[in-house]
Amino acid sequence: MEKFDVVIIGAGPGGYVAAIRAAQLGLKTAVVEKEHLGGICLNWGCIPTKALLRSAEVYHLAKHSNEFGVECQNVKFDFSKIIERSRQISKKLADGISQLMKKNKITVINGTGKLAGKMQVAIFDQEKEIKKVEAKNIILATGVRAKTLPGLEPDSDYIWTYKEAMVLQKMPKSLLVVGSGAIGIEFASFYNMLGVEVTVIEIADRILGAEDEEIAAIAHKSFEKRGIKIVTNAQIKESKKVKAGSEVIITTKQGENKSTFEKIIVAAGIVPNTEAIGLENTKIQLHKGFIKTNEYCQTDEANIYAIGDLTSPPWLAHKASHEAVIAVEKIANQNVHPLDRKNIPGCTYCYPQIASIGYTEKQAREAGFDVKIGKFPFIGNGKAIAMGETEGMVKIIYDKKTGELLGAHLIGAEVTEMVQGFAIAKTLESTEQEIIQTIFPHPTMSEMMHEATLAAFNRAIHISSNL
Ligand SMILES: Cc1cc2nc3c(=O)[nH]c(=O)nc-3n(C[C@H](O)[C@H](O)[C@H](O)COP(=O)(O)OP(=O)(O)OC[C@H]3O[C@@H](n4cnc5c(N)ncnc54)[C@H](O)[C@@H]3O)c2cc1C
Repeated sequence: MEKFDVVIIGAGPGGYVAAIRAAQLGLKTAVVEKEHLGGICLNWGCIPTKALLRSAEVYHLAKHSNEFGVECQNVKFDFSKIIERSRQISKKLADGISQLMKKNKITVINGTGKLAGKMQVAIFDQEKEIKKVEAKNIILATGVRAKTLPGLEPDSDYIWTYKEAMVLQKMPKSLLVVGSGAIGIEFASFYNMLGVEVTVIEIADRILGAEDEEIAAIAHKSFEKRGIKIVTNAQIKESKKVKAGSEVIITTKQGENKSTFEKIIVAAGIVPNTEAIGLENTKIQLHKGFIKTNEYCQTDEANIYAIGDLTSPPWLAHKASHEAVIAVEKIANQNVHPLDRKNIPGCTYCYPQIASIGYTEKQAREAGFDVKIGKFPFIGNGKAIAMGETEGMVKIIYDKKTGELLGAHLIGAEVTEMVQGFAIAKTLESTEQEIIQTIFPHPTMSEMMHEATLAAFNRAIHISSNL
């Protein structure tokens, strides 16, 4: 039986990054993957959705090109080409991971991996065991899958998960998105920009539950202005197939409402892939269904680690990759820094984009901080005006007592890039004074980080007072 220093089950942004880092550290490494290298992120998540959204943005820009003095007539799109481009980009990146595995001399084993006791991993093709390997250390990185709702089980036809929603060949006329987290809202934005009648329903009393309330409220208004119908405090009571799609009864505080949608995307949560990986004969514990780990990604079983979506929120690719490095460096006895959960940025690539890091205003107040808040609108930023992107806001939360940056919440064009400035500032435990002293290049959207901080002291230059 072949023996490895590290065997990783699952090759998403958790697993493949762990494999590369392990190889860099001279560990003999194998990764077991049952589907595609790159996991959900490269094949069905982050990357293909961003490719789709980019096509929709280009279409939107072309339609509004006269605002920039550019004439584009008969602006049209070819839906199948939009899908094809997205799939090609995913394939290219997944192929790139395959090359990286080869270059780093990582053994890739195709099949379904399962813990088989005595630090062994059995690999199956369907039900048949095809191989067994031994490992000094095992990293579980099997990710999650979409949660299904009773009565709304995906049928690849009318009711979709995110997978079907990104490979269809014909645009629907109307679409119901169930769930207003990042995934639901990105699909809502994509289809809305292409002219589909989109309705989003959310069981909670507001959309984008993970985001700062004020930012979510701005997003809500903006999406409605763009024609997305949003129904909060809403649930599907019943759904049945009809000729035109699915007829659903939606219950809200106001009562019941019957509507027909050609397609439905269910984006109402996730389920961890923990069932078939051999946890039953281990001491590994679960918390709310997810694998419990300490700050170094160690499970309750010696030398078995778990990383990424399989463990705990936030369910984001960069969190998975960061945990991958922590786990491997712990295995290799490096000087490891634990994951700081307050410093994980989150991005939603809808239109307008949303990005955030750290405490929301409510969380900061609930945690007992006396907060100082600075806000700056896009309309006051020269670059945003030049770009024709005047909708949005940067909101920063500081601790009044120490000046520490507690959180930043952004909505508007390119904020998914801008949030990284806040991530660095938070990692360096920056205070408001250090950000005020930082010189920001002009003209950039990043100047809003400076201005919002100044605004917290009524010192903003390009607005007359804090919002
Ligand atoms: C539509 C969508 C959009 C998203 N957009 C973003 C985004 O913009 N930014 C962001 O940060 N995150 C985004 N995410 C989330 C992101 O994709 C995940 O956080 C990330 O992929 C998690 O990485 P992971 O390695 O933990 O798991 P995964 O990427 O899920 O990888 C797990 C891998 O394990 C394999 N596997 C499972 N069980 C076994 C087994 N028993 N044996 C062998 N292999 C197995 C699977 O086939 C898979 O390849 C998005 C997700 C979706 C669905």
